[in-house]
Amino acid sequence: MAKLKYERPIINKINAGVTDKFGMTPGVPIIEKIDGVAVKELIKDYGSPVFVISEKTIRDTYKEAKLAFTTRYPKVQFAWSYKTNYLNSVCQVFHSEGSWAEVVSGFEYDKARENGISGNKIIFNGPHKSKEDLTKAIKNGSYIHIDHFDELYTIIELSQTMEERPKVAIRVNMDTGIYPRWDRFGFNYENGEAWNALKRIMISEKLDLVGLHTHIGTYIMTPDAYGVAAGKLASLAVELDRKYNHNIKYIDMGGGFASKNTLKGAYLPGKDTCPTFDQYADAIANALINSQINPQKMPTLFLETGRALIDDAGYILGSVLANKRLADGRRSMIIDLGVNMLFTSFWYEHEIYPAQNAGKIGEDTTIYGPLCMNIDVIRAAIKFPPMEKGEHIVLKRVGAYNVTQWMQFITLRPKVVMIDTEGKVHIIRENETNETITSLERVPKHLKLK
Ligand SMILES: *Cc1c(COP(=O)(O)O)cnc(C)c1O
Repeated sequence: MAKLKYERPIINKINAGVTDKFGMTPGVPIIEKIDGVAVKELIKDYGSPVFVISEKTIRDTYKEAKLAFTTRYPKVQFAWSYKTNYLNSVCQVFHSEGSWAEVVSGFEYDKARENGISGNKIIFNGPHKSKEDLTKAIKNGSYIHIDHFDELYTIIELSQTMEERPKVAIRVNMDTGIYPRWDRFGFNYENGEAWNALKRIMISEKLDLVGLHTHIGTYIMTPDAYGVAAGKLASLAVELDRKYNHNIKYIDMGGGFASKNTLKGAYLPGKDTCPTFDQYADAIANALINSQINPQKMPTLFLETGRALIDDAGYILGSVLANKRLADGRRSMIIDLGVNMLFTSFWYEHEIYPAQNAGKIGEDTTIYGPLCMNIDVIRAAIKFPPMEKGEHIVLKRVGAYNVTQWMQFITLRPKVVMIDTEGKVHIIRENETNETITSLERVPKHLKLK
């Protein structure tokens, strides 16, 4: 018989919730393996903490999303949102499934090009595109989504001296019933600004107006909002056809679909409240098909889904550093991964599991990261079984926005590995070392000790 875990006894008020309506909770769920590979082995081979990406989950999720849209609308094109996770291996999985690239900076633009994506399969969004970036995008025939009038004027100015005709769309912001509105990006629909921008593009004669774009927000839990947005973009398309006899090639609905993560303060788990791809697809396809757009000239539907396509494919594995009681008797646990590498812990209640058999009964526990900073809290309160120093834990659904928003605060970034569809493990990003950091530093001569 395995030795039972020992923890120093303390006297504590009994919390309601130890039993549920079925009696005692039947043990604590654990995650021992990811895609057939043991967590213990992954940590032994690649260190702790370590990010793990499942190639199979990316492909399965992408196929599910694609099927939801292509069964409801005739022409659909996904473009992978680089800022959500721009590790080259992750991008390449999406590209190999047929996804284009959606970028929001010159840096991301160049990354997409280095990943072998041709210019005419890059969608260039964002409020800041330098003149050099715009020139490059125009030369390569990329789709430039204009964010404001100053950018429009810059593009018109560039077009005077360039041979290539810029391919442009405008980003439109609007009231979809989701508040606060993201009206800082793009041109407003309700006050006529969007229509005004379209007219200026049409009379400039130097630009090719190819599409209409919106990105209404992120983690949007109401598919209906997409129906409203698609309807409003469709009405602009109809107006362009009426006034200029001009047909746009695509309507781009941006990203923003929720993932199955649970938001802080949410009453129910994200798994239960997250709409399905089918529900989003229904709302968008219905709005486009029911619009006044000429059925012979239906635009292609572009989607820039980020979070919902990659969150499930990412895990981070770590180890328990210590257990301790807080002054008021509450149990706390310190683990070796902090908010510096798990940016999303600021808004999600991430699911955490032991990676080996743990005790049957959980106790309210605060899980801290290893940083010397008070806000380094991974979970403020979670029912968690006792675990010993050195044992492993698994955090689920961390694929979106962590390996792009992480920072070298106090600890360096760990390795990222990918488990391929055959269960083979590949390092897709090395861990950082002191050399990574100091190679960019310069110390003036008079400050050098040797
Ligand atoms: C961030 C972003 C996306 C992806 O958003 P998700 O919420 O992750 O789906 C798509 N389009 C634009 C313009 C973005 O800024």
